[in-house]
Order: sequence, then structure tokens, then C-alpha cells
Amino acid sequence: MKNKFKINFSSISENEAFARNVVASFILPLNPTLSEISDVKTAVSEAVTNAIVHGYPDSVGEIELTAELDGFDLHIEIKDDGVGIDDLKKALEPFYSTKFESERSGMGFTIMKTFMDDVSVSSKKNGGTVVKLSKKIIDENAR
Ligand code: ATP
Ligand code: MG
Repeated sequence: MKNKFKINFSSISENEAFARNVVASFILPLNPTLSEISDVKTAVSEAVTNAIVHGYPDSVGEIELTAELDGFDLHIEIKDDGVGIDDLKKALEPFYSTKFESERSGMGFTIMKTFMDDVSVSSKKNGGTVVKLSKKIIDENAR
């Protein structure tokens, strides 16, 4: 089965729960395990939170969420047109944060990498950020 969706939403904190629940609903037809659902929700939540708090620190902007299912392969993209990342290599390191003062721990990207099979990030200063997350959902007949 191939399936996809694309939505745009405002970068307000209420939409973090909205986004992770949309993706969870989208993959439900595959009968994922609770742990797979939780992994995907956690990763989406980290990426969307980043777009909200870092991408648009002083304004409300647009976040685009797309997801595609190709059989059991899930591909998710979270895109913002915000301030971008100065030093991507550093940003991807555990415990690196530009917002330690507001209780960020710098673990968002590390969490995404832990719970998804593949994470890739592209970003440009003042050019926005795109985070791609992939995960293979295990076919219930093969469990
Ligand atoms: P935590 O996720 O643990 O609350 P954090 O958000 O600072 O802390 P990461 O999610 O790993 O940690 O992100 C690392 C850094 O990358 C951020 O501090 C920020 O500087 C930058 N960053 C991440 N996503 C974006 C984005 N969408 N736009 C701009 N900068 C970003
Ligand atoms: Mg984060």
C-alpha cells in the first residue's frame, strides 16, 4: 500500500500534540506495536518542537508536515522556513543546545536518532530547516 499526506500548521505549542497524533493515526492501518507508535510520536514531537521553539523563536510561522507510507516503510518530513541552524554538525551532537537557559537539554536530535531508523537534517542560516525521519514498521505477520 502507498499512502501519503501533507499538512501545514502554525508554529504554536498546541500543534506539537496535534502533529504527533496525526502521524500516529496515519500509521494505524499497519497495526504497529505500541512501542512503534510511541517511537514515531516521540521523534515527530522532538522535530516539531524544534521547529516551534528554535525555527520561529520570536514569531509564529508555518510548519509543513508530510508523511509517506510505501508498504511498511514510513518517511516523515518536518519543514520550517525559520531562522535555520548555524552549525549543523554541532547541533546534531548530544547535549548541544543554543537554548540551555530555557531548560533545553540538547537531546532532541539524539532522541530522534534513537527511535527512528534514519534521520537526516538539512538547514541553512535564515533558510529554514528540513528534518527527514524514516522507520520500517514491522509487519504483524512477521512478528
Ligand atoms: P531539547 O530538544 O533536548 O529540548 P534542543 O532543542 O536544544 O534541546 P536539539 O533538539 O538536539 O536540542 O537541537 C539542537 C540545536 O539545534 C538547538 O538548540 C537549536 O540551536 C538547533 N535547532 C534544532 N532544530 C532547529 C530548527 N528547526 N530551526 C533552528 N534551529 C534548530
Ligand atoms: Mg529539541
